[in-house]
Amino acid sequence: MTQEHRNKSGFETRAIHAGYEPDEATGAVIPPIYATSTYKQDGVGGLRGGYEYSRSANPTRTALESTIAALEEGERGFAFASGLAAEDTVVRGLLNPGDHVVLPNDAYGGTHRLFDKVEQRWGLANTPAALSDLDAVRAAIRPETKMVWVETPTNPLLGIADIEALADVAHEAGAVLVVDNTFATPYLQQPLALGADVVVHSTTKYVGGHSDVVGGAVVVRDLDLAEKVGYHQNAMGAVAGPFDAWLTLRGLKTLAVRMERHCDNAERVVEFLRGHSAVSQVFYPGLADHPGHEIAARQMSRFGGMVSFRVNGGEPQALAVCERAEVFTLAESLGGIESLIEHPGRMTHASVAGTELEVPADLVRISVGIETVEDLIADLDHALG
Ligand code: PLP
Repeated sequence: MTQEHRNKSGFETRAIHAGYEPDEATGAVIPPIYATSTYKQDGVGGLRGGYEYSRSANPTRTALESTIAALEEGERGFAFASGLAAEDTVVRGLLNPGDHVVLPNDAYGGTHRLFDKVEQRWGLANTPAALSDLDAVRAAIRPETKMVWVETPTNPLLGIADIEALADVAHEAGAVLVVDNTFATPYLQQPLALGADVVVHSTTKYVGGHSDVVGGAVVVRDLDLAEKVGYHQNAMGAVAGPFDAWLTLRGLKTLAVRMERHCDNAERVVEFLRGHSAVSQVFYPGLADHPGHEIAARQMSRFGGMVSFRVNGGEPQALAVCERAEVFTLAESLGGIESLIEHPGRMTHASVAGTELEVPADLVRISVGIETVEDLIADLDHALG
């Protein structure tokens, strides 16, 4: 598919065709798993197709990287061994010791752990702020602020940040805006088109979509950033292997159809939870009374498959709900075809316990899968007791 053709194609067409042309030699319509660490040179430096060593580039990984870049409408994409490996490469690839980062005060706990326990030791300071409050973000910015990190919707409270407004705030301060687009995926939200400079993903989640591979991705919209991220991807070496890249690309091709079903099912589940007497609060950006609803409606095409809710009866009841569910599997992670349920306080967000990022003890998070929705609702009804 030529660049011109690609730019005119719809999302689903790009997901299937943008990253790979059928193989010249065999006609294989799907990229093979290039399980090779190195490539024969025709004379010193005579590379066939530009491949030299698989940490630097591998054709299966290239197919995934090109596809995700086409879907995020970015200049270049990069695939990593995990979402956190992608994050670390962006942070240390673009920043220097002494720089400062503004972080969301509600976000994936592992992102905070990375900044607090790893990047801080390397000389990077951070300030958590409520990203839905632009004045709070401006107040958190210092002369050394070089990056504003956004997650929207957030994990696990489904908070919404205004990407376009935050891009202006970050750029006025001379900082780059990084958006973790894991929950929304490029199917529902394209941060680069809204002014962000960098998108990061845990492709472990919706992009891979089948809970069978851990991975990460970065997409950037300008060549200077592409050069820096590409250099550090190779220099730091946390790349996706060819098997993982192949599985992730296989998942990515069906992202659009999966996301539609995730959204349909989540909307029905939210309606059910809102009417249940054991549920005290439901967090979902599609709800008209969600504080970020208007922004979400502007910057997302639908509201996704993640839902959190608080239950009456505190932590014991939240744990009981998680343990009683049967169709919803009690497990960490999210974004796969199967529905998952978890207790963020004890599981995914245990690393921020005792900090200002601690999540409510009566909170339950669900990743609504693509099963028959009536079965999901019946299961939650049973779990709520
Ligand atoms: N970003 C978000 C929003 C996440 O939920 C996660 C993992 O749960 C990550 C990043 C980290 O990704 P990984 O687990 O692939 O390293």
